[in-house]
Amino acid sequence: MALISGQQYIDRINELKPEIWIDGEQVSGKLSEHPALKGIIKSKAKLYDIQKDPDHIDHMSFTTHSGEQAGMAFLPPRTKEDLERRRIAIRTWAKSCGGLMGRSPDYLNTILMTFTQSAELLKSQDPTFCQNMINLYEKAVTHDLSFTHTFVHPQVNRGRLQLEWADKQVAAHITRKTNDGIIIRGARLLATQGGLTDEIIVFPQGGISEPSVGNGFSLPANTPGLRFIARESFDYGKSQFDHPLGSRFDELDSIVVFDDVLVPWENIFFYENLELSQEIYDKSSFFQHTVHQVVNRCIVKTEFILGTIQLMIHTINIGGYDHVQEKVSDIIIALEAMKAFVLSSEIQAEIDRWGTMTPAKEPLLAALTYYAKIYPTFNEIIQILGASGLVSIPGENDFNSPIRQDLDLYLQGANANAEDRVKIFRLAWDLSMSAFGTRQSLYEQYFFGGPLSLSKRLYLGYYRDEQIQWVKEFLSIEDEVEDDEKDEDS
Ligand SMILES: Cc1cc2nc3c(=O)[nH]c(=O)nc-3n(C[C@H](O)[C@H](O)[C@H](O)COP(=O)(O)OP(=O)(O)OC[C@H]3O[C@@H](n4cnc5c(N)ncnc54)[C@H](O)[C@@H]3O)c2cc1C
Repeated sequence: MALISGQQYIDRINELKPEIWIDGEQVSGKLSEHPALKGIIKSKAKLYDIQKDPDHIDHMSFTTHSGEQAGMAFLPPRTKEDLERRRIAIRTWAKSCGGLMGRSPDYLNTILMTFTQSAELLKSQDPTFCQNMINLYEKAVTHDLSFTHTFVHPQVNRGRLQLEWADKQVAAHITRKTNDGIIIRGARLLATQGGLTDEIIVFPQGGISEPSVGNGFSLPANTPGLRFIARESFDYGKSQFDHPLGSRFDELDSIVVFDDVLVPWENIFFYENLELSQEIYDKSSFFQHTVHQVVNRCIVKTEFILGTIQLMIHTINIGGYDHVQEKVSDIIIALEAMKAFVLSSEIQAEIDRWGTMTPAKEPLLAALTYYAKIYPTFNEIIQILGASGLVSIPGENDFNSPIRQDLDLYLQGANANAEDRVKIFRLAWDLSMSAFGTRQSLYEQYFFGGPLSLSKRLYLGYYRDEQIQWVKEFLSIEDEVEDDEKDEDS
């Protein structure tokens, strides 16, 4: 089958009937008609239609060994040109949603591609586990599957080295092994789009010390006992005029509960394995390829934000003020920096031990860390520049009511009529102030571990021996001095 249409995605997700709970009720009926889900499902379906569109199919897909077209995110890059092809495809999808969908299918499909490239690692526990990963990849390519994932243990007690799972059994862990597979009970922190994808990939958090939580597997979203408990939807059923973003792109984050879920052996990549729990991240090129997707999406998102801010400025004619220009230039710097990080990672790309052309890690880690820190300032800039305009935003019903004349007169902008001005400011509000907008900010800061842990990773992982040596030579400092200091320190 390979590339699916948007309608095929919708039909498939409606047939799955995963267990999703929203606002105290289990979702029943078609997911695509549920008020909290229909907006995001429609937007996701559009991605699949773009992929098949004759104007896009050549740069959104590649030809597999069996001669089928498959989504570009599944392509294991072998050359720098392949990285460029992946970049173009990622940005094309991101453009259709302003970069506001963190879980467009290319994110997890990229992750699956990287884990499959390094599937040899899984042989250390069992050769069939390696094959399980390859089988999943091939199934995903053939059926154009989409995935969500859950990697992190619940936020019960971050104050101890030994997290609470050991005694309270909160985190999803193995309770039994049977002839059919392993039984999992407990919870995982989050899965964005939980229940809205064909499958969920479950991998352990890095750095764990408890074997019962050291499991990697994938499950269909409708597996018995698998439960998605969603947060309040930020799609409040409003029109696209009123909530231009929440009505389209709210991905819904869900807690994932495993209520004695049977994971068949053929779905398992490893289990009770502390070594592989770390190696799958350290020895694969998971980080580089995944973050290459992320940073490209963030570039498109920054362009969308820049366009929105500039429209706001033009509408009320504040572009002549120095501080306004300074703030916009901060966004431009962020945009250009992110573009440069990606290009730098591609120029320095090398073939990894699995034969995959892999972008350089350092610029991508710098980009991810930088964006997690800079993103909240975008919201701040929108608020500073929009000021009261961000709350003087009557809704669509107001424009269709007898007070329309008031709105037309009093809400006009220097360079826009009232309706267009409100549309622009509503978009700025939904980007920066609404529940949808503030969740976007939280997402960009935390979805990959948080600004602090990213900075720490950069500090600990960045190679800088040459620079240290250079400065030592400049100061005529002998190597022994450092050794002496080390001895004193220890
Ligand atoms: C919107 C959103 C969507 C997400 N989607 C997904 C998803 O689809 N799949 C998925 O697997 N995960 C997802 N995540 C989870 C994400 O990976 C985690 O939020 C991230 O790893 C941080 O973990 P935490 O939220 O448990 O924060 P915590 O680790 O609990 O941190 C809370 C605070 O405590 C501090 N802290 C905690 N421990 C330490 C320490 N040892 N030293 C110093 N400070 C510490 C942190 O710096 C932070 O300020 C999502 C998160 C968000 C916000």
